[in-house]
Amino acid sequence: MAGRPRLTDPVWDYAPAPESAGTVSIAPEYGLFIDGQFEPATGGRQFVTINPATEEPLARVAEAGQADVDRAVAAATTAFEQVWRPMPGAERAKYLYRIARIVQERAREFAVLESLDNGKPIRESRDVDVPLAAAHFFYYAGWADKLEHAGFGPAPRPLGVAGQVIPWNFPLLMAAWKLAPALAAGNTCVLKPAETTPLTALLLAQVCQQAGLPPGVVNVLTGAGAAGAALVAHPGVHKVAFTGSTEVGKQIAAAVAGTPKKLTLELGGKAANIVFDDAPMDQAIEGIVNGIFFNQGHVCCAGSRLLVQESVAEAVLDRLRRRLTTLRLGDPLDKNTDIGAINSREQLTKIRELSDAGEAEGAQRWSPPCQLPERGFWFAPTIFTGVSQSHRIAREEIFGPVLSVLTFRTPAEAVAKANNTPYGLSAGVWTDKGSRILWLAQRLRAGVVWANTFNKFDPASPFGGYRESGYGREGGRHGLAAYLDA
Ligand code: NDP
Repeated sequence: MAGRPRLTDPVWDYAPAPESAGTVSIAPEYGLFIDGQFEPATGGRQFVTINPATEEPLARVAEAGQADVDRAVAAATTAFEQVWRPMPGAERAKYLYRIARIVQERAREFAVLESLDNGKPIRESRDVDVPLAAAHFFYYAGWADKLEHAGFGPAPRPLGVAGQVIPWNFPLLMAAWKLAPALAAGNTCVLKPAETTPLTALLLAQVCQQAGLPPGVVNVLTGAGAAGAALVAHPGVHKVAFTGSTEVGKQIAAAVAGTPKKLTLELGGKAANIVFDDAPMDQAIEGIVNGIFFNQGHVCCAGSRLLVQESVAEAVLDRLRRRLTTLRLGDPLDKNTDIGAINSREQLTKIRELSDAGEAEGAQRWSPPCQLPERGFWFAPTIFTGVSQSHRIAREEIFGPVLSVLTFRTPAEAVAKANNTPYGLSAGVWTDKGSRILWLAQRLRAGVVWANTFNKFDPASPFGGYRESGYGREGGRHGLAAYLDA
């Protein structure tokens, strides 16, 4: 630790290493992407998207209404019937490969734009979001001509028009998660990005144009929740895919119930990250940090509940606190930054409210000394100890850089506490014993269980939850099933 730069120690600070915002040219205004063209919303409605790190406006963006949803679904229907469904899989694959390669070629542009619009550190948008988005298009391109041999029967058919609604935490990556399998399976898409992060989805729409994707195969409707609701309810939509809050997920499930639409829901989580006394401690500390402070904790599968074995709890917490003092919070475009901005004022308010509730309920709050920038939305990395299972911070998704620490004595107690949540998206286990990992993995009610790692994603690996974390799987071969009538 000696000599390492810390937030508290400006003498040893790194020099700033900002990526240039000039890498990407942001237009003053953007239209909706319908039938291969950018056009204004009916009635000319717009909203402003801002940089959450500075609160400065980035662009005015068209706000879709019911008439725009109708136009986009009509364009997607025509493209499905006349172009995309009849096209051989091997031909569809060529478009997906082309999109993947263009995303790679324009990776720096995508990374800078994502960090500007979302507030996440450039290190993450550059090394995680953008490469993984390209990887999804590459991966599903490989499936497009093999669907008949993938165990879905001899002639699996696409569903039709997919209405896809995505959140603000991984804007480009979620767009890729949704579009790539849908297109590979032969569906056409209408995508609704989150209101606070529309820009990379619009850049991806430009990439679709650049790749020569036939008009109407991908449509992007920027706008508010109402546009998402109109899309989900549209009778011309055959498949609904949603990632976001459990609350909105329930509304969508209710809207889709009684219709023939297929539905996948990827909702919230409150994952347990379980550290045993025999865990490789250096790696576990990094895993805890990555589990909850990656992407400011705006991660549905974040390891937001640390369950640590009582005999090593003090030692783990000591090391964790020391590690946190070395995290750098600040300019998302600086390549040294570990923790960027909170995505919106609303989200910051929610994180503050839940953290205050944690203190009021008797948990002990700790953050490293940390200078927050004056403008923008910021929250220091925070640890709560003395947390009991009944506390709100142990039960509710905070979706911010806030870790709740609980302890356990036996493996059975760890399982009971880990499963004591309405969610069931992910979990982590840190131990030296393979048999213990397998024992836990069989008992943890979570869609993904990571062992001696956390927040690892791969397009070949299915992802999804149980209970209030949703249903259906995205990624891998499973992700295709959600878009096939098989
Ligand atoms: P939402 O679930 O409200 O938003 C997700 C997407 O759904 C956005 O595109 C949103 O549009 C859209 N939407 C909102 N209402 C409707 C509706 N009735 N029908 C169809 N689409 C709709 O998440 P928030 O952004 O409001 O975040 C709230 C909380 O949700 C967070 O604090 C966090 O706890 C959790 N969350 C969980 C995520 C996850 O991956 N599990 C992701 C994001 C949030 P618009 O952006 O315009 O509102």
